[in-house]
Amino acid sequence: MANVQPLRSPDDPALDDLCRELAARTDAQDVSGAWPAEQLQLLGKFGVYEWFLPREWGGQEWSGADCIRGYLRLSEACLATTFILTQRTGACQRIADGDSPRKSELLPRLVTGESFATVGISHLTTSRRHLARPALEAEETANGFTLHGFSPWVTGGLHAETIVTGATLADGRQILAAVPTDLPGVSSDPPQELVGLSSSHTGAVRFDKVLVERDWLLAGPIENVMASGIGGNTGGLQTSTLALGLARSAIRYLSIEAEKRDELREPAQALARDAETAVEDLLSLAGGRESCTPQDLRYRANSLALRASQAALTAAKGAGYVAGHPAGRWCREALFFLVWSCPQPVANAALCNLAGLGD
Ligand SMILES: Cc1cc2nc3c(=O)[nH]c(=O)nc-3n(C[C@H](O)[C@H](O)[C@H](O)COP(=O)(O)OP(=O)(O)OC[C@H]3O[C@@H](n4cnc5c(N)ncnc54)[C@H](O)[C@@H]3O)c2cc1C
Repeated sequence: MANVQPLRSPDDPALDDLCRELAARTDAQDVSGAWPAEQLQLLGKFGVYEWFLPREWGGQEWSGADCIRGYLRLSEACLATTFILTQRTGACQRIADGDSPRKSELLPRLVTGESFATVGISHLTTSRRHLARPALEAEETANGFTLHGFSPWVTGGLHAETIVTGATLADGRQILAAVPTDLPGVSSDPPQELVGLSSSHTGAVRFDKVLVERDWLLAGPIENVMASGIGGNTGGLQTSTLALGLARSAIRYLSIEAEKRDELREPAQALARDAETAVEDLLSLAGGRESCTPQDLRYRANSLALRASQAALTAAKGAGYVAGHPAGRWCREALFFLVWSCPQPVANAALCNLAGLGD
């Protein structure tokens, strides 16, 4: 592993080596719940952090479609590491797109993997939206903003040097800032014990009257800062990509079992066909061609992750239900897609389907 060259495209054969290294560690990682420090170092060695950042910061600026192809391969190998990578990338892209002069300090260390950053923005998008009071409030001061409150879900907050988060002012406008975690008043709760992906070390991060100087500001104050396009993603396709990566891992297992068990052949083939059609649609969307809507794809990707993982468990029988077997892990991980940044229409459609209400 000494002389690894950075991957130059998703067709680079060395991506197979990286995926093999990641896959070899996945089950033990899931059982221990430990932070995947070694896997994240591997991503750095193989230049994965370069994919997502502009050349001026040492990145390779891969196209949206190539990033999606890369994510798909990585998520088949290790969903937990790839999920952490999406949150890290979300932070890096917002820092790169934002107005902060501090980006010249932050990005060179992020692109190499020397530093870890993450995002805590769900309280502005999909979490606690039914509550009257913002989870994280900001007050403008002479040279910046004071943040008070918490961000409920932050992946790897304990391990981050920087957290990209948003806060709401009394007049309803919002800011987005890159907050150094060593500022007085920033603290991460111990990670939550989760149904799956516990090694993502996700938990709340608290901000106790934290003074954030103006030069850490990425955007705002404006109405609905998350709609400002800062750190814009590839049409919200990441979550579907990771769900399809998980589905493919489970289908591969089922197909291998089907080689020796006739009764598995037809279900394995049907799931494989369904998954490959969804992957084609994903790559079309990532390449700017509208083969279906991103929400339709998300619904199908969620459904495939759930169906394929449960098919794998059915084939694996009791042995698959023992901790450490991948089939049980896939089932738990598939549930994540029901809650991770799930658009309300997709959640509604899933509920109707579960209730047998049809189309
Ligand atoms: C493992 C994991 C990792 C994550 N990592 C990150 C991350 O790194 N960064 C990030 O920004 N986000 C992250 N998220 C957040 C995620 O994207 C969603 O925002 C989150 O799953 C929303 O769930 P919630 O429980 O906060 O939703 P909420 O909407 O706050 O629901 C919480 C509870 O409130 C009640 N409730 C909900 N809606 C209503 C209503 N309309 N009326 C009355 N009661 C209601 C329900 O009882 C519900 O259980 C992560 C989530 C998970 C699970």
